Amino acid sequence: MPTTRLQLPSIGLTELQELISLEGLPKFRAKQIMDWRNKGVLNPENMGNIPQNIRQWLKDTLCCEPLTLSAKQCSEDGTRKYLFTLPSGKNIETVLIPESERGTVCVSSQVGCVLDCPFCHTGTQKFEANLSAGEIVAQVLAVKEDLRQHPMQEDLHHDVTHLVYMGMGEPMANEQGLHQSLAMLMSEEGLHISRRRITVSTSGLTPQITQLGEAYPVNLAISLHSAINSERDILVPINIKYPLEILRECLNTYPLAHQRHITLEYLLLDGINDREEDIQALVNFVNPERERINLIRFNPYPNSPYSGTPTERMNSFAKSLISKGIRATVRRSRGQDIMAACGQLKSSNTTKTTS
Ligand code: SAH
Ligand code: SF4
Repeated sequence: MPTTRLQLPSIGLTELQELISLEGLPKFRAKQIMDWRNKGVLNPENMGNIPQNIRQWLKDTLCCEPLTLSAKQCSEDGTRKYLFTLPSGKNIETVLIPESERGTVCVSSQVGCVLDCPFCHTGTQKFEANLSAGEIVAQVLAVKEDLRQHPMQEDLHHDVTHLVYMGMGEPMANEQGLHQSLAMLMSEEGLHISRRRITVSTSGLTPQITQLGEAYPVNLAISLHSAINSERDILVPINIKYPLEILRECLNTYPLAHQRHITLEYLLLDGINDREEDIQALVNFVNPERERINLIRFNPYPNSPYSGTPTERMNSFAKSLISKGIRATVRRSRGQDIMAACGQLKSSNTTKTTS
């Protein structure tokens, strides 16, 4: 099965050099192959300076293209949403969010999600699989390749500069895929993206957050959504296992890069977590020295059970926090016209059944 073979998107240079040498082929070819790979060229047939016998060897030895692009949608604001199919036939989604100075790719880490936050479209989908490191990295490489083939309009950045693990799935519940993909994305011989440009978003699996901080101290975003345990138990059910007190301790020790902070994501749901007592609970919870709040507008999806707080009240919620010494911003939603915004990603029709 191709999925059990080493995958070109995530293989290290030394590993590839060893494989090539074992075959009696010239070792310097490994570096050339890596250069193609890092540009997003994964099909050996498109690797111009690689001779035919090595292209064939690559195809026979590695899983070169773990993802097939099945569909692509472009938003009016430049956002692109990709539907990729895995060798198993399962689908995942990836989003590119271009701005004038940066291009951010939002990667998926699982097919579906192991958790089931009630406001999240992905959470309504059955958990099907963890993505391998190769499948996570391949999402980034495929976007790079798409940008080369179909350049971005001029006022927007032309390449991938930033990465967020905020697509489908809970990255901390796929620790192996997360860590191994970060190894390639951050390494010098890989895409060499700085830890300051990578953000992992999690609903709050505290042991895994600590592990991540020790191994790959990238930026951290926490899906907080409430600073009241009884409320968060419902909105983010992992809170039952790792309540706010445990999360607090964990956040206090997470390593931060210079002048960086932890982002606390807070989705505002009308009449649910946008009340005066929610502000007070946040004030008690947040450490303003190390943390900032990012207020998120609720992105509806078909049959979603909530409605978002109206804009005016979102703004006054933000102002209220700011007046109490907490840094809070309202996130601009992108790609909503193509259902590419946070929490709208869903790749199949398999729905969780509630008992
Ligand atoms: N599982 C991880 C990462 C993926 S979700 C996590 O929960 O953090 C990425 C972000 O989208 C999270 O902050 C999540 O809470 C938010 N989100 C989920 N559903 C949403 C919706 N319907 N509208 C707006 N944001 C949503
Ligand atoms: Fe999973 Fe994150 Fe959605 Fe919760 S918000 S169901 S953890 S993807």
